[in-house]
Amino acid sequence: MAVTLETPLARVLGPKTATGMAETLGLHTVRHLLRHYPRRYARRGEMARLDDLQPGDRVTVLAQVKTVSTRPMRQRRGTITEVTVGDGASTMKLVFFSHKHARLAPGVWGMFAGTVGTYQGKLQFTHPDMQLLSGDDDDDDWARELVPIYPASKDVSSWVLQKSVKLLLGGAGNLADLVADPLPEEVRARHGLLPLAAALLDIHRPTTTGDVGRAEHRLKWGEALTLQLTLAARRRAAALEPGTARPRKGGGLLDAVDAALPFALTDGQRAVGEELAAELDRDQPMHRLLQGEVGSGKTVVALRAMAQVVDAGGQAALLAPTEVLAAQHARGIRQLLGPLGRAGELDGDPAGTRVTLLTGSLKTAARRTARAEVAEGRAGIVVGTHALLQEGVEFADLGLVVVDEQHRFGVEQRDALRAKGSRPPHVLVMTATPIPRTVAMTVYGDLEVSTLRQLPSGRGGVSSSVVPVVEKPGWIDRAWERLREEVAAGRQAYVVCPRIGDVPGSDDEPEDAGGAPADEQGRSDRRPPLAVLDVAEALRAGPLAGLRLDVLHGRMTPDEKDAVMRAFAAGETDVLVATTVVEVGVDVPNATVMVVMDADRFGVSQLHQLRGRVARGKHAGLCLLVTEVPSSSPTGQRLAAVAATSDGFELARLDLETRREGDVLGAAQSGRRSAIKLLSLLEDEELIAQARAEAQALLESERGLADHPGLAAEVAALATDERAEWLEKA
Ligand code: ADP
Ligand code: MG
Repeated sequence: MAVTLETPLARVLGPKTATGMAETLGLHTVRHLLRHYPRRYARRGEMARLDDLQPGDRVTVLAQVKTVSTRPMRQRRGTITEVTVGDGASTMKLVFFSHKHARLAPGVWGMFAGTVGTYQGKLQFTHPDMQLLSGDDDDDDWARELVPIYPASKDVSSWVLQKSVKLLLGGAGNLADLVADPLPEEVRARHGLLPLAAALLDIHRPTTTGDVGRAEHRLKWGEALTLQLTLAARRRAAALEPGTARPRKGGGLLDAVDAALPFALTDGQRAVGEELAAELDRDQPMHRLLQGEVGSGKTVVALRAMAQVVDAGGQAALLAPTEVLAAQHARGIRQLLGPLGRAGELDGDPAGTRVTLLTGSLKTAARRTARAEVAEGRAGIVVGTHALLQEGVEFADLGLVVVDEQHRFGVEQRDALRAKGSRPPHVLVMTATPIPRTVAMTVYGDLEVSTLRQLPSGRGGVSSSVVPVVEKPGWIDRAWERLREEVAAGRQAYVVCPRIGDVPGSDDEPEDAGGAPADEQGRSDRRPPLAVLDVAEALRAGPLAGLRLDVLHGRMTPDEKDAVMRAFAAGETDVLVATTVVEVGVDVPNATVMVVMDADRFGVSQLHQLRGRVARGKHAGLCLLVTEVPSSSPTGQRLAAVAATSDGFELARLDLETRREGDVLGAAQSGRRSAIKLLSLLEDEELIAQARAEAQALLESERGLADHPGLAAEVAALATDERAEWLEKA
């Protein structure tokens, strides 16, 4: 029986190996295994990037045994055998308790796999899995120049994967028959790409690093094209959907909003506003992403679009990621609309509409009222959280969905809300996290993009500094002094901490490396992250004594949070000690100081977001990143970079780098099965752009994918398997 890509691995490798692969690596079929690419390639005599290893990583290294020594344990019976492996320049230790391997002798080469632990500051493996190389193997695997190292698991080692892949590649007779190349010949020719079979051979069993490069390039192309086809298909489908035009009408809510605005729109706001107004006037639903620097004034742009839709007789929904933010939006919009936002109330303007807040924390009766207002169309503007997505929330005539701070929402949620209109509503997605071009082309590839580059004029700007408390102990006192000066001048401040308090820091314990006895185990003495409750108490009693201080965190009830935010917005509180609940969108223009405690515990984007909470009015802002990490460490340098630039695009790139893309690309790098394995948002910008153009051209050609069943199958596989997950992330 012929092997195909869909053949279960059990039939090729036997049940035991196949079960391990399925359960721990998610590999079920020949296709999955062929696409389980090596993580890297080891060369003999060249220690595999040991410097890069992090405690807790599960890795495989190819190394030579240098020394072996055995001694009795101090505290208990039995022996410790320590084996040093490496190449002289860089070494690592293997530790065995009461266990001696006769074949482990100096000079022997082997592959060692385990979870990296530390002891006395040095990396070590405790009881690693091993495959020692005998030298007289008839097998050529170990004689190869480049030994592939696979993402492995506890049950399936890199060398088992290597042998299994070899079996597939060798046993397949004609690999080209097994793997029909989905890429159209012309595309391959145009971009000088290897046939798929050759690329698979080269990535699994390369002779030179050049082989690997060419193979990767070809395989990335396959990934990029499949992804872009999926996204292009989405865009096309969206463009064919029948929508409802919501033309601009004078004398209504929009004019009222414009008249009530206490400032002039920036050129950017006006330009994007025109763009949106025109698109809302079409009977194809708009699908637009509005990205704009923190504080660039996206809300007003959205509100004006919402007002246009309400004027045209439809409803507009604004979806916010948190209750705090939803409440703030509702409050701000109501304030701006005045009587026009209170139609049906005693002092309301009957020509206006209602602004309804719908969040998960509403009591049953209030929720029923809110839902009725939405269902009957009395609420022209509906502001809410995820609760808007729930069953039972029906709109009379949903015309526009605005999603604020998109990075907290996924495509599915967007779709869920879109499905609430009888016809697909217009969709505007807003994000303050600037998006590198590649991400815009991939994760957000089904949306058109508008950008607000300009901040409203008259902003004071924020100056940022790192406060390295270990190196410069005096600076923290100065920081609190500065905060007090600002408060004395009538301003307000945030102090943000990574943790709420009361809960022991559970995620900061070092990884236990393979069951070594505690007394032999290195323990990191890194303290748990600072907590809101502790810090607030310490500040009240110490450096900020006498100031009006309040706390805000996720464990408070929505009502409590709302009360705290209101008081802060009203200037009744001087200092808000909070978790990152203030990260997104919170808008108190009078706040000028942002102190981030344990700043090293936050990501680049988060810090940039936090900084965006201050200097939103005319006063200059100050952002202080307090940390114990040395300024020369990579983390210290990352903080310095955040302090040095306020260019969100540059920081987004830095963020992408430090997150090692793994998070952005979802499961791609975690060793789990994924259709997108090699494509890198950082490095493959050019390739992704080319693939996007090819995808567009293919879909626009007369027969579409009809002549390319292989590609169509890839797209279908991505759709069922991965799309949600891949697009969900980022
Ligand atoms: P973001 O884009 O981060 O969501 P917001 O929409 O919350 O920013 O706006 C930030 C602040 O700037 C708000 O207080 C808003 O009222 C104010 N603002 C918006 N547009 C302008 C403008 N054209 N001139 C002055 N202030 C503005
Ligand atoms: Mg905002």
